[in-house]
Amino acid sequence: VRVEDKLYQNRYRVDSGRSHIVVAPHETPPPELVALVTICPARCYEINGKGQVEVAHDGCMECGTCRVVAEGSGAITWTYPRGGYGVQFKFG
Ligand code: SF4
Repeated sequence: VRVEDKLYQNRYRVDSGRSHIVVAPHETPPPELVALVTICPARCYEINGKGQVEVAHDGCMECGTCRVVAEGSGAITWTYPRGGYGVQFKFG
């Protein structure tokens, strides 16, 4: 079974308008933000047409990788979703 197929089994209850991850405003993204585009396993981060990094929280698996890499520098803020929202894992 491919990883993508397993990820498809997860379910998300999206807290619309209340992202649990916020990218700090920036003109040019610092290296730790650029790294998130590659290292997020759910590919929640992308570079927009202005060269800035954006996050789409609705597919986040709450693995915490981006938190470890980028929160310490202030590049993002990260909190768990409110109760009842976020990812629901089918496997583990
Ligand atoms: Fe991606 Fe994990 Fe960060 Fe969610 S917590 S945005 S899945 S790296």
